[in-house]
Amino acid sequence: MTAEPPAMRIVLIEDNLGDARLMREMFRESLNFAYQLTQQGSMAKALRFLAGNPVDVILLDLGLPDAGGIEAVRMARAAAPNVPLVVMTGRDDDALAAQALHAGAQDYLIKGQLDLRAMLRAIRYAIERKSMEDTLFLEKERAQVTLNSIADAVISTNTSGAITFVNHAAGRLIGLSAGQSIGRPLREVLRIRDADGAETAIKPRPAASKPDPKLDATANSMLIRDDGQAIPIGYNVSSIQDRGGKTTGEVIVFRDVSLTRAITQQMTHSAQHDFLTGLPNRMLLNDRITQAIALEARNLRNVAMLCLDLDGFKHVNDSLGHPIGDKLLQSVARRLEGCVRGSDTVSRQGGDEFVVLLSEVAHAEDVAITAKRLLEAVAHTHLIEEHELHITTSIGISIYPDDGTEAETLLKNADTAMYQAKEGGRQTYRFFEPAMNLRAVERQSIEESLRRALERGEFALHYQPKIDLLTGAITSAEALLRWTHPVRGPVPPVDFIAIAENCGLIAPIGQWVLREACRQAQCWAAAGLPLVTMAVNISGKEFQNDNFVDDVFAILKETGLDPRSLELELTESVLMKSAASTQATLRALRDQGIRLAIDDFGTGYSSLSYLTTFPIDTLKIDQSFVRQISLIPAETTIVTAVIGIARNLNLRVVAEGVETAEELEFLQTKECDEAQGYYFSRPIPPGQFAHLLHNGVTVQ
Ligand code: C2E
Ligand code: MG
Ligand code: MG
Repeated sequence: MTAEPPAMRIVLIEDNLGDARLMREMFRESLNFAYQLTQQGSMAKALRFLAGNPVDVILLDLGLPDAGGIEAVRMARAAAPNVPLVVMTGRDDDALAAQALHAGAQDYLIKGQLDLRAMLRAIRYAIERKSMEDTLFLEKERAQVTLNSIADAVISTNTSGAITFVNHAAGRLIGLSAGQSIGRPLREVLRIRDADGAETAIKPRPAASKPDPKLDATANSMLIRDDGQAIPIGYNVSSIQDRGGKTTGEVIVFRDVSLTRAITQQMTHSAQHDFLTGLPNRMLLNDRITQAIALEARNLRNVAMLCLDLDGFKHVNDSLGHPIGDKLLQSVARRLEGCVRGSDTVSRQGGDEFVVLLSEVAHAEDVAITAKRLLEAVAHTHLIEEHELHITTSIGISIYPDDGTEAETLLKNADTAMYQAKEGGRQTYRFFEPAMNLRAVERQSIEESLRRALERGEFALHYQPKIDLLTGAITSAEALLRWTHPVRGPVPPVDFIAIAENCGLIAPIGQWVLREACRQAQCWAAAGLPLVTMAVNISGKEFQNDNFVDDVFAILKETGLDPRSLELELTESVLMKSAASTQATLRALRDQGIRLAIDDFGTGYSSLSYLTTFPIDTLKIDQSFVRQISLIPAETTIVTAVIGIARNLNLRVVAEGVETAEELEFLQTKECDEAQGYYFSRPIPPGQFAHLLHNGVTVQ
């Protein structure tokens, strides 16, 4: 059994008893649902009743003695705000009826025209309208609560741009309460400044477009609050349309994006800067170069790129440790920055490499001036913790557009020039020259094949005899390295020894040479050939190697060669590098009986004092001086002097590169001990040399 719907509780506020009765009769005859009618004769009584009793609908006569017209409507609404209200007015009182509706009544009836249907309809409508209003109110409430509890700021306006709604978040952001902002023009309350600093008007989106799903936080917009404070915001604007598609206002949704923007900025910064020095990194530098080029292409000025590499930084790092090395790099970075203008860029490429971009260069001389300034700035003492550090740098320079029109080419060429500067003695700068590129390409290709040469067995040793000028006997064999490149064919040592030194390959190659030469000498001795000293050339890099002495001893032991049969040829520059450790190394070798010769004597340092301090056996006069004998016979002073010095110091003296009988004769008259050169024999393969040992050379 279904429950009866509860009776509808109707209150009739009517002082006229006749009218009231009429109404009551009409209800009784025609209302076909359960109802309960209560009549109140005055507003005062009605209010008391309403205060204590729930009702479903109120019928209100607007001609009450204690409350008339619109006043009565207000009082009834106040007493029962949620109850549908139907008013009854006199005939021809349309204006009052309209006012009553405006004041909250749901419908009206005209007295004297009361017919049942009109009455029922009015009651039904009143109830329906009331429930619709309730729903609407609820929805509005829900929307308001929602909007007030979200983090996004929301402001809405009407068509004339006046603010109609401000949620809590918006109020907090703009620094004004809803009360302070509602009704005011939007542009007065929500002042937004764009990236370029100009205040921007909030532009509503065209009616057809959809609002962005994300607030646009990248535009760098700033909200300028009443108190002047600027807050980074992201915002978007959408228009509100009625059912007919007519715009009735706008909704502006915005948000404080300080954090997002700060993080974005921080991320962009760290992606573009070197973490150690804070300088722009390679990526940002490339951007700047491209920018500078684009700009200069129009200005007809030059852009210069300076590639810097610290000299001997690795040594600092290795000896004092990375933390000190890092601090030194930071100190260098600051010095470099101090040398250039704000429009220039100093960047760190990694390691101890920096690049300086000079963006507005009028003359190449200006670049040279800056380069000198950079050299000096870096060379000044760096005070790092308790260390006074000295470091120098080498600079290579390339200039746009002469040396390249793209960042990559310019960098590569500056780098090539930098290597030339390093080879040219460091603490200097070099402008790029196109010829450098060819050399660089050549070097690169040689370096690559050199790496494989050892394992592929592309090396061989040739031997050149040294002849005793008194007896004509072969005193020793100088081992000279020969490399046959699979494609290039024979590559002379001058073309690859320096490269091997620079790329660290000289150690394994040198070891191979020493082992092979010792093995060969031992082999000849075992074959009963006349005993000769084996002379091996040692490069500076090899000699400076900490393991050098041990390696030599190990190879001697391994091959069984008597140390007294080994002579090492060193150049003057090697001996001058670091005197103390050189002295110790030479001593150690000499103590084992190994002989020491100074190769190319006269071409290196002019200081002769080391000849007395180092345990040297032999001087080899460089062939350029020997050549003077035949070329400028009047100019033989140096050869004569060197032979004299050697005699005084009790050293043996060998003339290199003897080619003519004339040269030989001169050397003989000056009592030079030994000679070596094409005149006697070119460097030859071991088989031929064995032959030579067997038969001897002819000296006239
Ligand atoms: P170096 O030690 O002064 O060797 C003498 C160079 O002069 C050799 O050139 C030799 O072939 C050349 N030569 C000999 N007699 C004459 C002559 O009468 N006239 C002329 N014009 N030249 C003559 P090479 O073999 O091309 O070697 C050049 C340099 O390469 C050597 O100069 C040496 O410094 C270096 N080198 C050669 N082999 C080795 C090696 O195994 N290790 C190291 N570290 N350096 C080596
Ligand atoms: Mg030599
Ligand atoms: Mg030489």
